[in-house]
Amino acid sequence: MKHVLSRIVVWGHEFLAEVVSPGDLVVDLTAGNGQDTLKLFEFVGVAGQVVTFDIQAEALTNTKTLLEANGAKVRANLADDLPLCRQPGVDLVKASHAHFGRYVTFSPRAIIANLGYLPGGDQQIKTHSESTMAALEQSCPQLAVGGRIAVVVYPGHPGGEQEAIAVTEFFTGLPEHVFEVIQLRVSNRLLAPFLFVAEKLI
Ligand code: SAM
Repeated sequence: MKHVLSRIVVWGHEFLAEVVSPGDLVVDLTAGNGQDTLKLFEFVGVAGQVVTFDIQAEALTNTKTLLEANGAKVRANLADDLPLCRQPGVDLVKASHAHFGRYVTFSPRAIIANLGYLPGGDQQIKTHSESTMAALEQSCPQLAVGGRIAVVVYPGHPGGEQEAIAVTEFFTGLPEHVFEVIQLRVSNRLLAPFLFVAEKLI
């Protein structure tokens, strides 16, 4: 099979699966078509809670359809449904992940972010370094001890280079006594997507 090493998104899922158990709270910062949200739901099961953010109604509709088809109880939250309650199910949040802290006040065991634009959607609507940084700055410190965050970065997208630099500065600047951080990238294809995973140690 080709490109097995560079299945960066799959590696991200595997690093999160190592620390997540049924019943946990987990967060997807970019719902998109719901594939990552579905993975998180599979890890935490019906007793767990998945909170998933997106700014596009289309993305949340796709995610709702996919998750319900896989047996999840899905709640669509209104702007004033905050902070979210800790309860089993999947919470769709139509808001920027820059407002993470307004919605999520408990400590997630895992967080995922697959940056960029909605596959098959409008490529002009995509993540930007400013809101991505706001989301990372709020969500990383809130991880449960032993929890992990996985972020897939796309330096080859228009505008993606600046975001890739900001995300790299963020993760490489995390204090080593609080977070252990790894980066996985295709060493001989510089514009290929790459992955950061950080684990909260204390
Ligand atoms: N995780 C998705 C999946 O499994 O299909 C893929 C995510 S897609 C690459 C990126 C998504 O981020 C798009 O759906 C886009 O609308 C969303 N997005 C862009 N800016 C955002 C923001 N500030 N807050 C939340 N979502 C955002």
